[in-house]
Amino acid sequence: MTEQDCLFCKIVAGEVPADVIRRTDRTLAFRDINPQAPTHVLVIPVDHHPTAAALAAQDGDLLAEVVREAHQVAVAEGIEETGYRVVFNTGPGAGQTVFHVHAHVLGGRGLGWPPG
Ligand code: IMP
Repeated sequence: MTEQDCLFCKIVAGEVPADVIRRTDRTLAFRDINPQAPTHVLVIPVDHHPTAAALAAQDGDLLAEVVREAHQVAVAEGIEETGYRVVFNTGPGAGQTVFHVHAHVLGGRGLGWPPG
């Protein structure tokens, strides 16, 4: 399930290059092009779902797999012990700019709270 003109669908299809660090049958993890922390990786489902809320409604197991993969990224990047953040920006007001659901995995530095 892909959507035309979706940047992350194009990354899944190999039409746009990305620094892929992990993949499963149903997910892909690649480095954010504009990193906000020493580790900044995006985990996406291969299939197109616009937001975390839409994915939760349609396929909760796949959303759980995205979160499990976020944890595996943290282990692989060596940030599990010090702590890391998993963020789903949901909607334009929260800063979502790409409407193919993605978990931001951030770590490798102290992370303030509340986020901006
Ligand atoms: P959002 O603002 O939560 O939707 O996050 C979208 C993220 O995608 C941003 O952190 C961007 O830096 C990132 N991004 C945009 N284009 C690319 C790309 O081509 N490769 C990797 N990351 C990208």
